Amino acid sequence: MSAEVAAACECTHEPPHRFTIAGRARVRGGILLTLQRVDERYPPRDLFITDREMKMGSDNVFKACFVCVDRGFRETAIVLPKSDVELGLPPA
Ligand SMILES: [Zn+2]
Repeated sequence: MSAEVAAACECTHEPPHRFTIAGRARVRGGILLTLQRVDERYPPRDLFITDREMKMGSDNVFKACFVCVDRGFRETAIVLPKSDVELGLPPA
């Protein structure tokens, strides 16, 4: 069994768009995430999370929801638990 369970993330739109983290890589200055939408077929999108964002006090990182942006909805974010963002990655 792989320890990498596909965790679901949601944006704050109502109804929420739902995603799984389909890929992660530690890159210069942060982590590159690939988000795959799960509630509808949609092209996956890469999101960059900076080391600075990972060091902030909250348990979650908030990134603009690309589905909402594509549709012109504003002020929404995908809530990404840091534990899921870093799951399976080597330590920084
Ligand atoms: Zn959304």
